Amino acid sequence: FPSIVWLRNDLRLADNPAVQAAFASGAPPLFIYVLDDSGKARAPGGASRWWLHHSLAALAAGLERIGGRLDVLRGDPLQLIPALAAAFGAKHVMWTRRYDAAGIHMDTQIKSALTPRGIAAESFNGQLLYEPWTMKTKTGGPYRVFTPFWRACQALPPPAEPLRAPRRLAAVAWNKQAPARVALDDLALLPTKPDWAGGLCEEWTPGEAGAGKRLLDFLDDAFLHYADERDRPGRLSTSRLSPHLAFGEISPRQIWHAAQHAAAKSAAAAHNVDKFISEIGWREFSYHLLFHNPELAQKNFQTRFDEFPWRAATKDLKAWQQGKTGYPIVDAGLRELWKTGFMHNRVRMIAASFLIKHLMIDWREGERWFWDTLVDADPANNAASWQWVAGSGADAAPFFRVFNPILQGEKFDPEGEYIRRFVPELAKCPSDVIHKPWLAPAKVLQEANIKLGDTYPKPVVDHAKARERALAAFKRLKD
Ligand code: FAD
Repeated sequence: FPSIVWLRNDLRLADNPAVQAAFASGAPPLFIYVLDDSGKARAPGGASRWWLHHSLAALAAGLERIGGRLDVLRGDPLQLIPALAAAFGAKHVMWTRRYDAAGIHMDTQIKSALTPRGIAAESFNGQLLYEPWTMKTKTGGPYRVFTPFWRACQALPPPAEPLRAPRRLAAVAWNKQAPARVALDDLALLPTKPDWAGGLCEEWTPGEAGAGKRLLDFLDDAFLHYADERDRPGRLSTSRLSPHLAFGEISPRQIWHAAQHAAAKSAAAAHNVDKFISEIGWREFSYHLLFHNPELAQKNFQTRFDEFPWRAATKDLKAWQQGKTGYPIVDAGLRELWKTGFMHNRVRMIAASFLIKHLMIDWREGERWFWDTLVDADPANNAASWQWVAGSGADAAPFFRVFNPILQGEKFDPEGEYIRRFVPELAKCPSDVIHKPWLAPAKVLQEANIKLGDTYPKPVVDHAKARERALAAFKRLKD
């Protein structure tokens, strides 16, 4: 009788404790992916669906190379997993734990359905360095502030060495009594008309091998300047591992060990390792927050923000989504997102702040847009980061700290490399005015072929006035 490995956001074979446990059980493993269309969990956004298709294809190919197979089903896992176990006479079902409310609920229900039938249901931590419930403050509660949280994590023993991938598998014949499988294409995860995924295909290689290559390339190059350069959107200054982490094509433990090994070999790497690993720490912190606040994507962490007078400004929201606000750094970010499914972290902060504070649009609108368009859309990081920018989160940036999109652009993209890449209509704009083209002399604009309000929009709001409006609203909230 086979054991069942139910794969979800852990689409890898190496360092996957559920895969390892299936091997240890001695029974041949059956690898199952279920596209959950029960409506109980938050549906993946468009960019995530694109990634998922390619990641499943890569995993299926990887399994075939070692003699195994990936079987894909569609429906309600609560029906399908017990039905599969029954059809195959499986005695073990293994999976990697999830930490979002719907995922936890589903997994608990499936455990309750399997256990009375004598089927061992085992879940493992394959997604985080530390389980979110292990870190407790002195008073026994969850952390609300990153620095002491991360200090507590670092006081624990280092993460165990990553597990090896299986080398050889025996494929299990499909049982005719089992629920029907579907072909990957039948899941219809890819966009058709219009097919907007060209830029994503150019940028990314989903799958475990793509993740491993991305990590090695990063460690050889950008890692060596990470602490100084990570805020420069115009350069390839960060790892871009986030979508691979979101789909579990690589584990944080693999990244942790690879970074430490690199640091042991080179002084430049050693100089950067703590900063880089602390970013993985922010991911851990987001999961800690999500686990203890299941409605992180829906509800203000600080309830006083429930009364904030958000504007219902459909036109402004659209301008922001389309990268047509007239503020070049904001527009470049939103257009990078649309084209590649990614946005540099510094620009995510500027763009999010602009939506929330300059346009006074509810952070949840931005969270939803990112959920749909990011290839790394993640239930913990996305919600926690939006609340961080809004000032409504735990350990959040104070609301009164309003990012100035002009100064931020000038500081982090001084030559305008990033703007020129994603806002081609400003490509010829001189660097000293590229972050504020409306202040450029008419002659300069003419020479750069820019007609404000025609080839490139005028600012949708005036920075100083918008800042005052947001601060006044916040003051009323406090009063
Ligand atoms: P690197 O700098 O190379 O960092 C390595 C890893 O550390 C990342 O892959 C990521 O897993 C983690 N990390 C880095 N920065 C952060 C951070 N600020 N918070 C939490 N974890 C971090 N990240 C997501 O993975 N998914 C999201 O949906 C998401 N939404 C965001 C929304 C907003 C408004 C903001 C401001 C940030 C968001 N982030 C999100 C966090 C961050 O922007 C990305 O993780 C980062 O840009 C990914 O790029 P990288 O892999 O090159 O990061």
